[in-house]
Amino acid sequence: MALLTGKTRGGKDWTPTFAETIDPEKCIGCGRCFKACSRKVLGPEDFVDEETDSTRMVMTIVNSDNCIGCAGCGVTCPKKCFTFTTMEV
Ligand code: SF4
Ligand code: SF4
Repeated sequence: MALLTGKTRGGKDWTPTFAETIDPEKCIGCGRCFKACSRKVLGPEDFVDEETDSTRMVMTIVNSDNCIGCAGCGVTCPKKCFTFTTMEV
């Protein structure tokens, strides 16, 4: 198995890393990742915080099939909520 790779505009190899998870415990619902994603992969959802017995908005992956693996969402996240994965081909 090999990893899916592409090329940069300058011709260098590039390995996409696709958004895999967002940790709702860390997410503060700031929406930075949502604004950064050009592929409409992310969306808000309600999260029940059992520690504080309250509900708050967090970001989640709603359309993973649209992800191109740019990792821009993770760059914008101030709480390091994202994990990423490569793709085998
Ligand atoms: S890796 Fe890129 S395309 Fe995928 S969710 Fe993050 S910003 Fe969107
Ligand atoms: S940037 Fe990080 S903290 Fe802000 S909504 Fe996205 S996942 Fe949550």
